[in-house]
Formats: sequence, structure tokens, C-alpha cells
Amino acid sequence: MKKLLLLLTMTMCWAAQLQAQTRFNERPKLVVGIVVDQMRWDYLGRYYDQFQDDGFKRLINKGYSCNNCLINYLPTITAIGHTSIYTGSTPAFHGICGNTFYINGVKRSSCEDPNVMPVGTNNEKKGKSSPVNLLASTIGDQLRLHTDFQSKVIGVSYKDRASALPAGRSANAAYWIDTDNRQFITSTWYMQELPQWAKDFNAQMKKNKELQKVGKDVGLYPLCGHLIADMSISALKGEQLGKGKETDMLCISFSQTDIIGHEWATRGQHTDEAYLELDKDIARLLKAFDEQVGEGNYLVFLTADHGGAHNFQFMEDHKLNGGAWKWDGVYVKEAAKQLTEKFGLTKNIIKDCLDYRVVLDKEAIREQGLDEQAIRDAIVEEIQKLPHVSFAFDFKKAATAPVPEFLKERALKGYHHDRSGDIIFMLEPGWYGFGKYSSPVGTTHGEWNPYDAHIPLLFYGWKVEHGATSREVHITDIAPTVCQKLHIQQPNACVGEPITEIIDD
Ligand SMILES: [Zn+2]
Repeated sequence: MKKLLLLLTMTMCWAAQLQAQTRFNERPKLVVGIVVDQMRWDYLGRYYDQFQDDGFKRLINKGYSCNNCLINYLPTITAIGHTSIYTGSTPAFHGICGNTFYINGVKRSSCEDPNVMPVGTNNEKKGKSSPVNLLASTIGDQLRLHTDFQSKVIGVSYKDRASALPAGRSANAAYWIDTDNRQFITSTWYMQELPQWAKDFNAQMKKNKELQKVGKDVGLYPLCGHLIADMSISALKGEQLGKGKETDMLCISFSQTDIIGHEWATRGQHTDEAYLELDKDIARLLKAFDEQVGEGNYLVFLTADHGGAHNFQFMEDHKLNGGAWKWDGVYVKEAAKQLTEKFGLTKNIIKDCLDYRVVLDKEAIREQGLDEQAIRDAIVEEIQKLPHVSFAFDFKKAATAPVPEFLKERALKGYHHDRSGDIIFMLEPGWYGFGKYSSPVGTTHGEWNPYDAHIPLLFYGWKVEHGATSREVHITDIAPTVCQKLHIQQPNACVGEPITEIIDD
């Protein structure tokens, strides 16, 4: 009897061990990341009744929803959001500090790369892009490392930053749209020539009458989303993603929602149409994954790079707090004038003001023999005096700044010593920088407030049970969660934590 019990126990242990061992090499055939640019979390509820059954609703009703996913750094900007989702990290580590920022004193677009050439176009304005400025690995990079580069990883979007940064430095390809020529392009970072399936797709685009009609402004129409979905499906089929021995990955980002939001804000027919049309694109994508790799064999996550504020006039019309903060014009110029008088400046010492951060011209400060710290203190003081500024502080003096801890923490997570400027400020709730990126009836994003920082996060498919949580999770938790599910190492600057609710081992 004793022997039998022992044998039974051993068998059970062995079976349990086998199960655990088996799980370590189990992975889906395909992983798909979908980013909806500027999608606020509350849109899931706002449009729920109008969504069809097989788009967003399929993800919500069969997948797992994290209903309190927050962006835990500042500023809440496109290039940073896309990078943080896929690296599980923040600008302090991954170095992508904005859509545009300074590197060694030179202003650069996030994906600007002088050492690559466009592929699929001669348009150097649109094609000299790569993830060269990215200082961290992505989920896709880790997948490639884990499988000795057998996994294929591909990015598709309208914007270079929404395609190249998510896919990562070792990606097989990233495609984005050259709006001047209305073609999907890439750069020599990845390849010398577009694959035939991409050339064929571009040839179809040339014949698209609706596209020719809207021309360069394609981003302002739901058509942009249809093209991104179609290109993603072409990549899926053309590259036979999910058909190989190892797991492949597709990083898709829909940009039209952001461009439409900037133009027409959060309410009205344009935004409604954008989300209901996107719902159809999501449904088409899911159907294509079903057909290509089979339901249950792929893992999808859907999220956003940031949200967006309600339009200031809309807020005012309803007696709500908020307004347009004229930072390109009146306010910063006024602060600069005060400084000039106070220090007897002969040359401007503010190099730039980007995403609520002031970049000092250190050379001009040195040339004029000024005390840099005195200048920094004076700028903080001047900014703090401006109307509708809640807080301003010097990054170097963050520890002693009279600012709530969680805001300091978000600011510092977003601070890279060389790339993020010198002084940060935050506006009163509802107020946003009104400049070249927002129309009078549009909106923008970039701040800590829930309207900018509360994003949707849905997981669906491979080993994902239906459910939801309102526990606070962060944008930086997405990458470690996906990596844990795939049993691969987290990206090399990852600071997030796996969302254990959707991990079964
Ligand atoms: Zn964005």
C-alpha cells in the first residue's frame, strides 16, 4: 500500500512538473499589438452600443479589460506612448522624450535618422526614419532574441514613429505612409527594396479613387484606418506571419483617430465616424487572424499611446473649467522679456519650449557669463507666475519642489538628462497648450490628467480568459505582461510589472 501511495505521489509530481515544463515553451503563433492613437478609455463606453459584435465588442466581451490603465510619466505624447507600450519603460530609460526633442543639442524628430535612405519613395522628408534614437529593446526585439531571430516582427502605421518604435531596432520591417505620394514606405534600416506584396499593395493604392480625392489629408479620414488595416493584412499574408515554427509579431497603430481628434476634438460626427469605422477595421483584422492562424492561436492587445482633452470652448460652453493656453505666443515671450530685463541679456537663453518643458541654451548662458542656476530659478519663478500654471520646477531640484509626489515621479520617469530639457511645468486641469497642433475646435494631449493619461487596455485570444479589473495598472506593464505570457525575457529597460490577472502560469 505504501509503495502504491509513493508511486502515485511520484506520478502526480511528475505530471505537475511536466505540465509546468510544457508551459515554458508554449507560445501563440502570432502576437498582435494594436495602438489606437489618442483613444481615451471612456470611448469604450461611449461607443459601446454602436459597436458591432465582432470588433471592439469581441475584444471586450471575450477578452480581458484593464479598466484603470494609466500613463505613469510625462509628457503624454505619441512617440513616447508607442515606445513605452512596447519597451515597458519610460523616457528616462528608453530615451524617446517626445515627438521631437534635442539630442546632444540638436533638435530631432523621434525617428529621424540622417544615415538611412527612404525605400519605396524618393521623398527624403518622409523616408529617412528608423528606431536609431531608441535606447531600449521592445517586445519584438526580445522575441527575436529568444528565437535566435527566427520570429518575424513587423510594424505598420501611418506615422513612422508609430511603426518603427513599437517594432524595435531588430525588427524585420516597419512601414509607414509617405503622404506626399500616398504609398507605404520604409527605410534602408530594414531593407533595400520593398517586398513584392508591399509593391502590389502600393499599386492598388494608386488606383484608389477615394485616396486620390483626399490626397495628402488622408489622415483626416477613416480611409486612413482602412489602409492601415489592409496593409497589415497584406503583411500578414505576404510574410506568412503565424505560419512559421516560431511566434511572429505584428505591431499596428491607427493614427487617423489622433489626427481627427486634433482637428475636431472629442465630440461630433467626425470623431464618432472615426471610431465606428475603426470598429469595422478591428473586426476585419480579427477575421484575417482567424483565417490565417486560427481563433485561439493568436494573442492581441489593444491600447492607446495617450488620450485627449475636451475642446476648451466646449468646456467653457458648459461652464466647465478649462481653456486654451497660448504658449507659442504670448506667455512664453512675456516670460522671456522679463528675464531679459532682469539679467540684462544680450541673447535669448531659452532655446525651445516643447511639451511643457523649457530647453535652455546652455551655450548662450555661458557666452554671457551668467549663473546658470540663478537663471533656472528665475525661469521657474516667471513660469509659476503665468496664468493657469499649476506647477513649475527645475528637474535638478525635483527633490525639494513643492509639487505632489506622484507628479514629480511622473515627470522624472519622463526625464532623460540629455534629451528632456531643463524645466517642466503643468497647467490647471482642462487647460492645454494651444498652438500649431490644435485647431480652435480641436484638441491636444500631453499632460498628466486622466483625459490624457487614462487609456484602454484589452487583451484577447491565446490563453486569455474573459474578465476585467479596475486595479491600477500602467502603460509600462503591457510589455512585461506580454513577455511573461510568451515566456520570454522582458525588454532590457523594462520597469513595469506583469498583470498577473491574465497570466495563468
Ligand atoms: Zn498619439
